[in-house]
Amino acid sequence: MTNQANDQPTRYVPADLPGRIQHYIGGAFVDSADGATFDVLEPVTNDVYLQAAAGKKADVDRAVAAARDAFVNGPWPRMLPRERSRILHRIADLVESRDARLAELESFDSGLPITQALGQARRAAENFRFFADLVVAQADDTFKVPGRQINYVNRKPIGVAGLITPWNTPFMLESWKLGPALATGNTVVLKPAEFTPLSASLWAGIFEEAGLPEGVFNLVNGLGEEAGDALVKHPDVPLISFTGESSTGQLIFANAAPNLKGLSMELGGKSPAVVFADADLDAAIDATIFGVFSLNGERCTAGSRILVERAVYDEFVERYAAQAQRVVVGDPQDPETEVGALVHPEHYDKVMSYIEIGKSEGRLVAGGGRPEGFESGNYVAPTVFADVPPSARIFQEEIFGPVVAITPFDTDEEALALANGVRYGLAAYVWTNDLKRAHNFSQAIEAGMVWLNSNNVRDLRTPFGGVKASGLGHEGGYRSIDFYTDQQAVHITLGKVHNPTFGKQAAGKPAFGKGA
Ligand code: NAD
Repeated sequence: MTNQANDQPTRYVPADLPGRIQHYIGGAFVDSADGATFDVLEPVTNDVYLQAAAGKKADVDRAVAAARDAFVNGPWPRMLPRERSRILHRIADLVESRDARLAELESFDSGLPITQALGQARRAAENFRFFADLVVAQADDTFKVPGRQINYVNRKPIGVAGLITPWNTPFMLESWKLGPALATGNTVVLKPAEFTPLSASLWAGIFEEAGLPEGVFNLVNGLGEEAGDALVKHPDVPLISFTGESSTGQLIFANAAPNLKGLSMELGGKSPAVVFADADLDAAIDATIFGVFSLNGERCTAGSRILVERAVYDEFVERYAAQAQRVVVGDPQDPETEVGALVHPEHYDKVMSYIEIGKSEGRLVAGGGRPEGFESGNYVAPTVFADVPPSARIFQEEIFGPVVAITPFDTDEEALALANGVRYGLAAYVWTNDLKRAHNFSQAIEAGMVWLNSNNVRDLRTPFGGVKASGLGHEGGYRSIDFYTDQQAVHITLGKVHNPTFGKQAAGKPAFGKGA
């Protein structure tokens, strides 16, 4: 059970790699107040290649003060949407024009295959373009009560938004929050993931060149429990948009409670792909292979549980396992590579430990460990377990790597119970050509997003988010605009003032009831 490894090329290291990364606060690159740094590793050798400033409370305080000053005194929140939109389009142009550089740095830092990192860089540009257009097209409600009243919505930016992001597709996920937060006139403090701080360090230059006013964007690197925690607890940060693990989300929820912050949480997943016997099996196999092995399986919406109707189960498993073994594992910078190296040795150990657990829970039909020919680096062969019972840990828990569990079912009811029988509810994929079943089944699945006869292809206007342990609230399209703005209702009387008049009785009468 080996995976095809592309020829191991000479190790490719991008030119002009920085040796250290600083914070960016109030328009200037700065070190941590206490001078602390942390090590950043690259996933192919696990060598330390970078020192990043390790932000703590003092650095977060400084960044929030700069962002708050830019919000209260700066031009950004008061600019016309069209003016902000122009700057956002310039940001998108710059990201697009640097896509190759962004991709090589992202791939080097995170281990993502270069072709997929390139796609993510372009998606980041698209996120900015989309929200640049949306704020210009934005219309708010006005309600008329003929002859009496007009009520309108005065939409306002909220203040300093705290953005906390994970290490999988870091640059793209940062754009997903930065785009709408900035488009709506907020100022921000971004705390990127400590495993992958490299691409985030490019935002400052891009924003400066695009003409974003000073202090609107601030970046503090650092560990979650230090820099992230200080941001979550800061009283001058009314909003936290967080993407990461469900357990971190729970902690942030509790830590944000004393200040009653607005929270948006995009959390973990264990999404089912349900394949009925009447499905287009070729398309379903291609999609479910891509669905769990793309982005190294480090993908929140990965279809990491495949439920297959018994009539086609054996054929599906056999074909799926054979194709998984043909997936090309290789150096992340090689354009032929389909699965690169996992982000960090800690994460690698976690994924490998699940593979060992899986060996006693299911039937290993592909992969199962380090692929042949890769003696070092965080490489994992695409791994497939069949006959996995729903009680198995590899069925229930998010592995976040190139590992998939396949389980048979006999009836629609059983398939639905299996699909919904986990704590998560982010995405689901349904494969059937029966129109009624397709809709009824999709609507009954406990998932924030369902794809029918489709891979994970998302229109930016649609809601994005999970239910159950997968998230809180929805972003995407106007929902992101709603999260990052207050909708103040203004009520105006047009006609006669509608006033029940208290205290109308004649002067001199007692003001305390009718008396004894
Ligand atoms: P993580 O929760 O460990 O870290 C995410 C971010 O939170 C990092 O920047 C980290 O430094 C910070 N953080 C950690 N502890 C903190 C604390 N106490 N206070 C404030 N910030 C803190 O997640 P990860 O391992 O970086 O990312 C992988 C997870 O993200 C997976 O569970 C994946 O499913 C999820 N994810 C979800 C989506 C989605 O849209 N639903 C998208 C991508 C990733």
